Amino acid sequence: TKWVYRFGNGSADGAATMKNLLGGKGANLAEMSNLGLPVPPGFTITTEVCTYYYDHGQSYPDSLAGDVEAALAAVGDATGRRFGDTTNPLLLSVRSGARVSMPGMMDTVLNLGLNDITVKAIAESSGDPRFAWDSYRRFIQMYSDVVMGMDHHDFEEVLEDHKASKGYSLDTEITPDEWIGIVETFKALVEKELEKPFPQDPHEQLWGAIGAVFGSWQTTRAKTYRRLQDIPSSWGTAVNVQAMVFGNMGETSATGVAFTRNPSTGDKRLYGEFLVNAQGEDVVAGIRTPQDITEVARIEAGSENPSLEHLMPEAFAEFQTICDKLEAHYRDMQDLEFTIEKGKLWMLQTRAGKRTAKAALKIAVDMVAEGLLGEEEAVMRVEPAALDQLLHPTIDPSAERDIFATGLPASPGAASGAIVFSSDAAEAAKAAGQKVVLVRVETSPEDIHGMHAAEGILTSRGGMTSHAAVVARGMGKPCVSGAGTLRIDYRQGIVTCAGKTFREGDIITIDGASGQVLSGQVAMQQPTLSGDFGILMSWADKVRRMKVRTNAETPQDAKVALNFGAEGIGLCRTEHMFFEGERILAVREMILAETEKGRRSALSKLLPIQRKDFTELFVIMQGLPVTVRLLDPPLHEFLPKTPAELNDVALAMNVPLDALRERALALEEFNPMLGHRGCRLLVSYPEIAEMQARAIFEAAIAAGKETGSPVVPEIMVPLVGLKGELDLVRDVIVKTADAVMAETGTKVDYQVGTMVELPRAALQAAEIAKSAEFFSFGTNDLTQTTFGISRDDASSFLGTYQSKGLIEQDPFVSLDQEGVGELVKIGSERGRSTRPDIKLGICGEHGGDPASIHFCESVGLDYVSCSPFRVPIARLAAAQAAL
Ligand code: PEP
Ligand code: MG
Repeated sequence: TKWVYRFGNGSADGAATMKNLLGGKGANLAEMSNLGLPVPPGFTITTEVCTYYYDHGQSYPDSLAGDVEAALAAVGDATGRRFGDTTNPLLLSVRSGARVSMPGMMDTVLNLGLNDITVKAIAESSGDPRFAWDSYRRFIQMYSDVVMGMDHHDFEEVLEDHKASKGYSLDTEITPDEWIGIVETFKALVEKELEKPFPQDPHEQLWGAIGAVFGSWQTTRAKTYRRLQDIPSSWGTAVNVQAMVFGNMGETSATGVAFTRNPSTGDKRLYGEFLVNAQGEDVVAGIRTPQDITEVARIEAGSENPSLEHLMPEAFAEFQTICDKLEAHYRDMQDLEFTIEKGKLWMLQTRAGKRTAKAALKIAVDMVAEGLLGEEEAVMRVEPAALDQLLHPTIDPSAERDIFATGLPASPGAASGAIVFSSDAAEAAKAAGQKVVLVRVETSPEDIHGMHAAEGILTSRGGMTSHAAVVARGMGKPCVSGAGTLRIDYRQGIVTCAGKTFREGDIITIDGASGQVLSGQVAMQQPTLSGDFGILMSWADKVRRMKVRTNAETPQDAKVALNFGAEGIGLCRTEHMFFEGERILAVREMILAETEKGRRSALSKLLPIQRKDFTELFVIMQGLPVTVRLLDPPLHEFLPKTPAELNDVALAMNVPLDALRERALALEEFNPMLGHRGCRLLVSYPEIAEMQARAIFEAAIAAGKETGSPVVPEIMVPLVGLKGELDLVRDVIVKTADAVMAETGTKVDYQVGTMVELPRAALQAAEIAKSAEFFSFGTNDLTQTTFGISRDDASSFLGTYQSKGLIEQDPFVSLDQEGVGELVKIGSERGRSTRPDIKLGICGEHGGDPASIHFCESVGLDYVSCSPFRVPIARLAAAQAAL
């Protein structure tokens, strides 16, 4: 097996297509080398080594050490240096690189190979002792942190103390001799803390770093991130070892990161930040505020700090040419890292840039206009789940803004919430149902869970490419970064600015579009879906085969869904219409009735209410298909629970409290989810189905008259397991339809169908289809009943299952294709075998989940139905599934 792939000097063993083996970073370094771009020579240790490492008790393949030595020698030849040499030493960077970029993993060790001897050689050969000792102290700091597990703050403290004692404000003011002293202090710190000296042997350093990269694949942080992003742990990470180039070699050196287009807005303009005389981690860590790369951006930002374009015009021009070349080559917006060493440009990374949904849409639409992409490719370029960001509110332009700080508009959208200062607090508050804004000086990979829990993120330090900004954009959360006037005091739990103090728990609003931080809750505005969104969606709709409907029963939800492009209602849960307002009284009266006569009298009060609700819904939907599901949940859900509630109801209904309590007790079930619900209720009390069917038909006639578009209601029977159940209810529906048509003299077309949400229904689908004109897969219940896992109790243990690797994803969120999906497939095939034109849809939560939608396409369902806010996601996912 080839474990090590080389690159640099205009050629490479690998290529961009080999991401699975080389990781994203390694594959693209190879690709850039092949394109003849200036890439420091190096090599990639493959992801297969990572897999081997974990399969073999954390040990390496036998031949690896030799392969690494040979590759090191080649890097030495290319650079004219030798690793570990005491006069002309080669220094290395070591970086992790999985298939997709993954915060939470060991990121980078720079300047590896430095020790007490080589540092002197570097000082001599570079003629710049400051640079040499600065590099050495950085190496000790990074290596001790990421490889040996020390806290980098301990080192920062030494630095801060030193600067304070000298009255310096910048690291660059520290003299070479002082750096030597700081290095001694750092080494002493390591020895004291770890009870062993800082490793001096370069090979020991290198293998330590390689081990740390592989080790970081299984840290809690990395695992959490993988779980949130559905990344399998079997992928593993690669390790990239590369000759160092130095951005900290004085004023003609620099390091930076850039995007070929604006990752927030999608504007076609080079966009990025850099620092003079610095190394990569300085930019991302947000320790110094970076400068703009282009003049245009600098002027726009009103910054005094010169741009790269101005400072180093030649390197800038070459960089711009490379950006254009890479964008055209990859046909996608690129995210780049570069270093300029004494005026010479080096490319350290390129990859498809993370972007907001807004930017993704704009870039996709623009690239079609530029001839880089076709429409269908553009459709594939936008991640459906990311559209969610565009559906988020922004601050109402007419709202009062009490601005108390302004930072960078790092990730769009607006969010209000209570201030929390730690990620654990954010998570706890979220679990308690509270909306929070996470306020940090800066964020690190340890904050992923808090950022996930928060509505938005606010930092006082760091640029547009800081950790907070990049991760928030990826998550689609609003973020304001680098609000430098904020003073955050974690210990006291306060943040102050311009004389104002906010405490933990105070409500603030952040505006990720303007960078403003506002006090209190501010009025928000719903998004409009036009422009690039409309264009891309129109392309998506052209290629989509499945229809997209919505799950809605209220006029409000139906309108929202229509606005988002819903093509009908796939599930109207009528029980939700029973809970509202005064209806609940009539419902309770029905439940409490001892006789059919009593029930009918209560139902007659519900009839006009239901008719009105259905009419309203049908009118809104203007003749689009509407699937109305007959009553589903167990009756006890409608009954009052606490003694006080029972008392109120008894009084209001004028029934004895005892009778009420007795009835409530009688209806209580051990397993309500598997109890007297769904069609079982309708079998027991057919008059309920009769009332609902009557309301639906009368409403269909009324709405048809009002809008001029005839309504073809689809009446759906829940929780069917036996064909006989469906037949019984169907009979009631048909008789009611005949009666209504005879009474009104108006013909109504309608369909009767069933939910398939029990394994028995899927297995017996051929039989059941004889009586059903359509099936709707209720994958919430089908998941519950297939796994035998209660959908209401699953959260208490599914997390453990995920962390132990038993399941990759929550099956209530993303369809379990092997198990539940198999039943969907069987149900579809058997249903079609009896009734080839049977209409098939899905209305469980999975109808809005992109991966599940792909599955639905593969089974050939006719439509998916999802909650209103997921309709655009489903439209795009269905289009991608069809391509
Ligand atoms: C289902 O079970 O998937 C479904 C849509 O019905 P409900 O969620 O109302 O049980
Ligand atoms: Mg159900």
